Amino acid sequence: MSISIMESQICGRPLSECLRRIEEFHGFKAPGLVLGLFMVDLAQEKIGADVEADAIVETRYCLPDAIQVFTPCTIGNGWMKILDWDKFALSLYDRRKRHGCRVWFDLEKAKQFPNLYKWYMRLIPKKELPLDILLNIILSAGRSVLSWDAIYVTQYYQREKKGKTVICPICNEAYAADQGNNCSSCQGNGYYKLITNQKKTCSSIVFGNGKRK
Ligand SMILES: [Zn+2]
Repeated sequence: MSISIMESQICGRPLSECLRRIEEFHGFKAPGLVLGLFMVDLAQEKIGADVEADAIVETRYCLPDAIQVFTPCTIGNGWMKILDWDKFALSLYDRRKRHGCRVWFDLEKAKQFPNLYKWYMRLIPKKELPLDILLNIILSAGRSVLSWDAIYVTQYYQREKKGKTVICPICNEAYAADQGNNCSSCQGNGYYKLITNQKKTCSSIVFGNGKRK
């Protein structure tokens, strides 16, 4: 990529810095996340930089990370909702007025970039389309493969409030009361079993070296 593209401003900072942030947060420059960067940038521009925006994302893959890296909305603070629809689209909207902008990856437009289209539709094996080539296509394409609409949000805009918390009589840990008289784990829905003969101090258990293979 040319230096001028890498220094172009996106989401309020140089593209090179955005890519670095993506790599730090996600582990590598995921193509979907780079595409998501352009989507967030477009949505932010359309709603205006000074709007306090909440986000709705229509896939669990990649796009939630683009929101978390380039907006103040995260899963943890509840300002982002994730819909498990596997649609490559996101909306940013004014949390009070509920007016916003929905941006999506437009497959019709993506046909100008056949390999990008094939990648998204999973029509090309990974080994035939190396990551750096795909990334260059996405950086060249930028907004030209996106579409957007002005929207008014009618659902999913409510901030979820925490319900009542009680203590489980079996494990003595606090949990959300709506699970019943015992916590979900003690009702048999747990996801783990205890490893015996382990010292119960946190520092004595080392889980690998912290790196993924
Ligand atoms: Zn319990």
